[in-house]
Formats: sequence, C-alpha cells, structure tokens
Amino acid sequence: MKNNFKIGSHVSMTGGLIAAAKEAASYNADTFMIYTGAPQNTKRSPIEKLKIDEGHKFMMEHNLSDIVVHAPYIINLASYKDDIFELATSFLKTEIERTTAIGSNYIVLHPGSYTDKTAEYGIQRIADGLNMVIDKDTKPFICLETMAGKGTEVGRSFDELAEIIQKVELKEKIGICFDTCHTHDSGYDIINNFDGVMRDFDDIIGLERLKVFHINGSLNIRGAKKDRHANIGADETNPKGKDMIGFESIYNIVHSKYAEGKILILETPWLNKDTNLYKEEIAMLRGD
Ligand code: FE
Ligand code: FE
Ligand code: ZN
Repeated sequence: MKNNFKIGSHVSMTGGLIAAAKEAASYNADTFMIYTGAPQNTKRSPIEKLKIDEGHKFMMEHNLSDIVVHAPYIINLASYKDDIFELATSFLKTEIERTTAIGSNYIVLHPGSYTDKTAEYGIQRIADGLNMVIDKDTKPFICLETMAGKGTEVGRSFDELAEIIQKVELKEKIGICFDTCHTHDSGYDIINNFDGVMRDFDDIIGLERLKVFHINGSLNIRGAKKDRHANIGADETNPKGKDMIGFESIYNIVHSKYAEGKILILETPWLNKDTNLYKEEIAMLRGD
C-alpha cells in the first residue's frame, strides 16, 4: 500500500463476512464497510451465521483490515417516543456485540432526528441513550457521523456533535465519521477551505476523535441540506448526476494530512442494480 490511508467502500454482508471481504477484494480495496443486515431494518442473523473466521482468513490473505460497521439508519436515539428510543438503545447494544464478534473497532452511527422536539432535546436524548449503551467493556468506537442537516437531523454542525460528546460519560469510546457529502450539504466549505474546516473541527471536537471518512460527492450545492450522494467527480453524463464537490477537492481531502492513517469509505451511488464504480473510484483516489 503506497498511500498511508486505507480506502474501500460499502459492501454487502448478504452471504456473511466472507462474501463481504471477497466483494471488497474485487474492488482492490484495503478495507470495507458493512451493515450487519439490511440498513433499513433491525432484523439480524445470529452471529454464528456470519462466517466470521472464514472472512478473516480471506482478509489476511488479501490485505484487508479495519472493518467498519454502519448501524441501520432507522434507529433514532433522539426520538421522544419511548418505543422508538427503546428499540434504538436495545438494537445498539446488540450491534456492539455483533461488531465486537466481527472484529471491527468502529460502529458508524447517525446520531438521530429530533422530529417534533428541539435540537437541544435531541442532543440530550442521544447522550442519554449512549450512556445507557456504552460501558467500560465496550470495545468498538461509536463514531457519530457528521450529518447533512436534512429534516431535523442532529449532528449537522461540529457544535452539535461536541455537545453530545460533552454529555457522554465514557467519552473515550466516542469517535467521529466525517462524511464529505454531508459536511458540504450542511454548509461547510470543504471545496475552498478544507483546512479551515478541519481547524474548526479540531477546535470544537478535537482531531483525535476523527476515525473514519465517508468519501462521497454531492448532487447539490453547499448548504443545500439534501444528502444526495454523487459519484466522485461525476460530470453531467453520469446517469446519477453531476458531482458538485468535484474530483480535485475530494482528491485533496483524501491526500491531506487529516486523512493520514484514517479509514476512507465510499458510499457513492450504483449506476444500476449490478454496476458500481467502486473499483474505479478507489483507483482514482489513490492516484493509481
Ligand atoms: Fe451514514
Ligand atoms: Fe455517510
Ligand atoms: Zn448520506
């Protein structure tokens, strides 16, 4: 590996860790991200069915490491509804167990949406939920994701993420996943002033919390709060649309000092049900 970051993409866990690792290898990836089941529901197979040992053996042989788990996006720790909050905390508890069994050190989590309440309410509720779920034996980092600010999403600014962390007791278990599409959509100027954005990140959150990047283009202009991912540097001929961040900006982010030693995961769109550009995008971003 000539770069000092690890790059990969989201891959499917249908077929277990062995299938996920094989898919990642087919993209020449160094790493990969999985949902432990469908991203939009909380049904999960028992750990014994995930083909974990087989997966690790294949990973060793193919220089794959640093698996990232993404929690399903329907769980909402910010919800004021007791049943939804209860589902989120109990699911997250078992997701931590699955993540540990898989041998992953990172769970990426969308903090939540405050719906009919306020951001302040959501921040407190998320912290309460994290305090219920995290204990001294928790192995993986819970990586709160920087959000686009769509609807009532909490985590659309570094300040909101810092406020959550400040209310968490076992802060050493909290990391951050920096999503390029989301930060751009929420209004940060990662195109012209990535260095300034990261200095703010350091002042407000602290760079030591940064563990994972989600590397995505965006279909929208800065501040649009839409959260529609684009292929890296896609032009108007791409069926999924033009990337408004652009190849050069994303390439500079990936090769910046902030991405050194970090795990970089693509969540860019599939062109159709069996074609994606992960292999090409990974090669382009490495500079191969
Ligand atoms: Fe995410
Ligand atoms: Fe993301
Ligand atoms: Zn997104």
